[in-house]
Amino acid sequence: MSLPGGRAASAPLLGHEIEPTIFELSVAGRSAYQLRTTEIPETALSDFLPREHLKTKSVALAEVSERDLVGHFTRLSHRQFSVDLGAYPLGSCTMKYNPKFCDAVAADPGLNSVHPGVPASLSQGWLELLVSLEDKLCAITGMAAATLQPAAGAAGELTGLLLMRAYHEANGDQRTRVLIPDSAHGTNPASVTLGGYEVTTIPSNDRGLVDLDALKAALGPDVAGIMLTNPNTLGLFEEEIVEIAEAVHEVGGLLYYDGANLNAILGVIRPGDMGFDIVHMNLHKTFATPHGGGGPGAGPVAVSSRLVEFLPGPRAARREGGGYFWSTPDHSIGRVHGWHGNAMVLARALAYIDVHGGEGLTRVAQHAVLNANWLRERLRATLPAAYDRVCMHECVLTATWLKNEYGVRGLDVAKGLLEEGFHSPTVYFPLIVDEALMFEPTETESLQTLESLASSIERIAERAKTDPEGLHHAPQSTPVSRVDEARAARHLIATEDAAAR
Ligand SMILES: *Cc1c(COP(=O)(O)O)cnc(C)c1O
Repeated sequence: MSLPGGRAASAPLLGHEIEPTIFELSVAGRSAYQLRTTEIPETALSDFLPREHLKTKSVALAEVSERDLVGHFTRLSHRQFSVDLGAYPLGSCTMKYNPKFCDAVAADPGLNSVHPGVPASLSQGWLELLVSLEDKLCAITGMAAATLQPAAGAAGELTGLLLMRAYHEANGDQRTRVLIPDSAHGTNPASVTLGGYEVTTIPSNDRGLVDLDALKAALGPDVAGIMLTNPNTLGLFEEEIVEIAEAVHEVGGLLYYDGANLNAILGVIRPGDMGFDIVHMNLHKTFATPHGGGGPGAGPVAVSSRLVEFLPGPRAARREGGGYFWSTPDHSIGRVHGWHGNAMVLARALAYIDVHGGEGLTRVAQHAVLNANWLRERLRATLPAAYDRVCMHECVLTATWLKNEYGVRGLDVAKGLLEEGFHSPTVYFPLIVDEALMFEPTETESLQTLESLASSIERIAERAKTDPEGLHHAPQSTPVSRVDEARAARHLIATEDAAAR
């Protein structure tokens, strides 16, 4: 197989050259792996499966040698931006550099060769790990107990809403609405709807915080609870949180804490002390698991004591007098995951927590907040903050003036950054900010990296004055240049079948 220009498929790719798909590299009869032969006699599937369910055509997998397989994926990996390559200031998603120590823990065969169905008596080490993680997450959040099952933040949200529903139903209380601020992440209203409740949107005030009067006006006996992110998705701390909690509790509602921004407050304050009843954590964001491309996550949900009896089960528990066992709470809402959650993400999180220790986690929050404020101040004249205040771990800047003066949008700035060797920030979120660019440098970036990121953004703003057209077509120096995003969604080609194109 040769590439455009007659170069060999195995040569490193230059510029825009296209890597063939694994199917295009396929040659009949080649194989990268062989299953071990066994002495177990072969059985034809047709002996025990209904004939109408058997495939009649081959599944047409690619046939490649190990050499071609490794080369293909190594070349593709060199065309990617990754947390291991450079700064990744993707606000809200918290893409921090992940210590290799956590990889080493997750690669330990003592952990990863254990089948999740192994009885508790043979997997005491794993149960101890899960109990220890639950204890530490509860200490960090100020809650009574947690489920480690949910496989991501969004799955944790749905779990939390089912807990909210179970709690109200146990009290014989029919409630129909959940309040959500207009700055919330899109998964919040989606989870509320899936949980069987209606969403009431609460507007933000001119300081970027929940409008307390609007909140109080929306409260009533039909309100099941409120979902809040604190610091919110503008990176701003909800200063009136205690008053909000009191008002919601007064009408019998519960407070749900979206913990995606937990890295901003680690070891400084706790959701439990602010009055929250249910807290989800995104372990992959706060406690170190690379999660680009929808990769593995874990969204444990911690609750206050009045909700513990409803938690999903089974949960690992400590036996009085030593040892661990699986236990399911009396009024459990049931399982929310086939097994015990994304176990390796849980192991990585415990490793991250233990290696930092309490003081180390506090420094994580302090440095994350310092870095975001440094960037916000440094860019004051280039991209002003949407709300000009001290922020927490992320800052939401706006490119409105570049759009008005030069026709250069936030998207153009974000794409231009790729040419400068940085990953783009989160764009157009939260929805209430025009031309939003949400930067979260995280605690892992050095002052030198932040200076270099800020200089790149300043260069792009200068370029907007003289070469707006160039920015509309950026990036040009990356393996893939500007794509038509609407076309990718409307005319999706997700098949290798050439006839279907
Ligand atoms: C990422 C995020 C979520 C959803 O979490 P996932 O782990 O991606 O499912 C919810 N809320 C906020 C504020 C987030 O940033």
